[in-house]
Amino acid sequence: MNDTTVDPDMEVLNEKGRRWRDARCRYLEAHPGRQAEIDQRYRKAHPGRAAENTRRWREQNREAEKVSQQRYREENRTKVRAASHRWRENNKEYAAETDRIRNQNNRESRAAYSRRWRLDNPGRAAEITLHWRREHPEESANMRRRRRARESQAIGTHTAADIRLIHKNQKGRCWWCGKKLKGKQYHIDHRVPLALGGSDSPENLVVSCPQCNMRKRIKLPEEFVLRLF
Ligand SMILES: [Zn+2]
Repeated sequence: MNDTTVDPDMEVLNEKGRRWRDARCRYLEAHPGRQAEIDQRYRKAHPGRAAENTRRWREQNREAEKVSQQRYREENRTKVRAASHRWRENNKEYAAETDRIRNQNNRESRAAYSRRWRLDNPGRAAEITLHWRREHPEESANMRRRRRARESQAIGTHTAADIRLIHKNQKGRCWWCGKKLKGKQYHIDHRVPLALGGSDSPENLVVSCPQCNMRKRIKLPEEFVLRLF
């Protein structure tokens, strides 16, 4: 018997009632599965009341409910995943917003989880990274630059929006040679290289053609120094 659902009427059972209840318990113990049948029939006959009972039971047994849900998820992984996927497809905006909030709240633990997952799944992780880089060339280049800057302990930082503004201010031309930059095939240069103590903030950044960027990287010739400021 489920002793967590205390029917208030049970409290005031007389002797006859108690005997009846005990007999019922014995009967159900002797016939496993019978209770489920009875429940099912009850739910069919009284859908509203059954739902209300379930709701009340859940409210009074939150912990048990959590455990039961957890077990269900573990036993039905594929089904749960498919349902979740379907729900997300139908509620894209809401799902994105919930993700955003959850990410914000769990940034630390998520980062740790993601690091662990990447260590456990190196092949898949590399694939995902590669795919992401292909889909987000600008952000990806930005992250690499920021990492370089971090490693050389440069001061300042910048965003993808800063770069777009710099590109616009230079009217889409190479800072060093003035040639029109082709589409997204431009490089982002530190006017004063990080290695020489230059900062990583927008003031020290320019966009340039690949050729100038390569030439500059080899050394810091006079023509480049003249255009520094
Ligand atoms: Zn150039």
